[in-house]
Amino acid sequence: MHIQFLGTGAGMPSKSRNTSSLALKLLDERGTIWLFDCGEATQHQILHTTIKPRKLEKIFITHLHGDHIYGLPGLLGSRSFLGGEKPLTIYGPKGLKEWIQLTLQTSQTHLNYTIEFVEVEEGVIFEDEDFKVTAMPLQHVVPCFGYRLEQKPLPGALQIEKARAFGVPKGPLLGKLKNGMDVTLDDGTIIRSEEVTESPKSGFTVAILGDTRYCENAITLSHNADIVIHEATFDHTTEDLAANYGHSTNIDAANVARISGAQNLLINHLSARFFPQDIENMLNEVKELIPNTFIVKDFDEFSWQQGELKILGK
Ligand SMILES: [Zn+2]
Ligand SMILES: [Zn+2]
Repeated sequence: MHIQFLGTGAGMPSKSRNTSSLALKLLDERGTIWLFDCGEATQHQILHTTIKPRKLEKIFITHLHGDHIYGLPGLLGSRSFLGGEKPLTIYGPKGLKEWIQLTLQTSQTHLNYTIEFVEVEEGVIFEDEDFKVTAMPLQHVVPCFGYRLEQKPLPGALQIEKARAFGVPKGPLLGKLKNGMDVTLDDGTIIRSEEVTESPKSGFTVAILGDTRYCENAITLSHNADIVIHEATFDHTTEDLAANYGHSTNIDAANVARISGAQNLLINHLSARFFPQDIENMLNEVKELIPNTFIVKDFDEFSWQQGELKILGK
C-alpha cells in the first residue's frame, strides 16, 4: 500500500501546496486506487504522478468545502475521456450527489461509466473480504467525516515442504490448504490448514481525518492505527483561531495520535501563512509527542511494508 499526497494546503491553493487530496494506492491489494478528497486541480496534480484515473475505484469526500471538492467534476469527466469504464463509488455527506449531478448535467458532461453515490452516515460504510471502512462525524463548521480504513488479516503463507512431508500431493489440495480449508487424503488422513500454513498476518489500519477541531471521534477513529492523517491548519500561536474555525493545531494532531496509540502521524492541510522555518518548528514540537511524524508536502509518497512506513525517494 502506498499513500501519495496530491494537495496539502488549507483553504486556497498556494504556489507550493494545492488544495486537499490524497491517493491510497491499493495496487498490490486490489489493483485499484482510492482517493480521499478532491480539491480544485487534483487532476492536474495527478498528471505529475503515475496515477491512472481509470484505476480509481472509490472516492471518499470528508466535507463539502470547495478546497475538498472543486476538483471532482473535472476529474470525473477526464476519467471517462481517458477510457475509464468501470463503475466508481463516491462516498460523502448529504448534498454531494446533487451537486455532482447538477454540475455534470449543466456542463453536459456524459460519462462512460456509472457512479454509485453513498451518502455517509456514522458507521461502517463499506466492507468486503479484504477491507472495512468506518465513518464518524468530526467537528468542523459544516458536517465533516473522518474515515477509518482497516485491512483484514491476511492468510498465512502455505508451508509447501511441510504439507508435502505430510503426504499432500501436488495439485488442488495444496490450494485448498492455502485458502484455509482442511483436506482429507486418499488414505483418510485429515490435514488441517493451520498445520501447514503460517499464522495470519494482521492488516494495516489508516485513519484519514477531514477538517476538524480536536475531538473524541478523531481519537476513536485513530485507535491503535498504524497511520493517522490529520490536519494542522494552525500552530500553537494561533490556537484560538483553530477552535473558532473548526480546525486543529499541530499539537492537537499530535495529541489525537498519541492518545489513540497510533504509530505514525502524517500532518496535512497546512495554512499558506507558514514559512518553512515555522513548519520545521511545528514538526519538532510534534515529534516530542509522536516521534514518527511527517508534515507532508504535495507529491510526498509513503509506502507501508512489513509494518513500517517509509517516505519514498528520500
Ligand atoms: Zn479544508
Ligand atoms: Zn473545511
